[in-house]
Amino acid sequence: MLVYRTFEDLKSYLSNQVSKGRSIGFVPTMGALHNGHVTLIKESIKKSDITLCSIFVNPTQFNVQADLEKYPRAEEEDIDVLKASNCNVVFIPTVEEVYPEGYKTTVVDLDGIESIMEGKQRPGHFDGVVQVVGRFFEEIDPDYSFFGEKDFQQLAVIRKMVAKRRFKVNIVSCPIVREESGLAMSSRNVRLSERGRKEAVFIWDQLQWAKENYPSLGVAKTILQIQKAFDDNEHFNLEYIEIMSEELSEIENENQKARGFLVAEIEGVRLIDNLLLN
Ligand code: AMP
Repeated sequence: MLVYRTFEDLKSYLSNQVSKGRSIGFVPTMGALHNGHVTLIKESIKKSDITLCSIFVNPTQFNVQADLEKYPRAEEEDIDVLKASNCNVVFIPTVEEVYPEGYKTTVVDLDGIESIMEGKQRPGHFDGVVQVVGRFFEEIDPDYSFFGEKDFQQLAVIRKMVAKRRFKVNIVSCPIVREESGLAMSSRNVRLSERGRKEAVFIWDQLQWAKENYPSLGVAKTILQIQKAFDDNEHFNLEYIEIMSEELSEIENENQKARGFLVAEIEGVRLIDNLLLN
């Protein structure tokens, strides 16, 4: 597996591949890789000739400095995981490489989907996401790029950015990969104690409860019951539970597909999950 750290080196390799007619699949990550990431890599290998993974903890998408500092980093292990997954290339740039002095960001109007849920809790988060993924798409010009449904709102933001900036890339979404317990895999899970990891399954339990009961209870009552369940759970701090359409608009009738979105904190670790409810 090739390891590149500058756009110049990466692009000279990629242009050579493209000139041979090879398609490029791109999997952007922040590292501390787990099986969720590996699934994206495997999807990319199926669809594209060359699979490129990036590892970059993007400072501009963190609105809390301490969260950025605590974000797990594991470059050597990540390289081993990628090699074992048959990834072709990994790109590991520095912050200065991604944002050189004078770099001008293209501002994209996201029609308001950036300011609900994650955007409301983490102001400026999606501006940072759009900035970094936009920068990578400009330079890498991939044919496909792979994103997890775990960050469902991010996926919607990326699709919107691609449409507005007219990138030619095809965005491919991949289902959430879970631990056997149901806990959604996340780089942040390594910060949980063994006990915290067990307690964290409560998020999955609540989403499943929502799935069972939403058809009879509807949006407001389902949300209320879940809020109550979290109030009664001393380990968790619920940030939000929302039930919205797949397009991230309010549910207007019961025939619409509805998805539950839940974010909660345990042991100072912020966990995000979602589930289709009907
Ligand atoms: P991250 O490194 O957390 O920024 O995630 C990189 C990509 O992996 C994003 O598209 C995430 O949605 C995706 N991802 C993270 N965790 C999972 C998971 N458990 N299942 C599926 N995709 C995931």
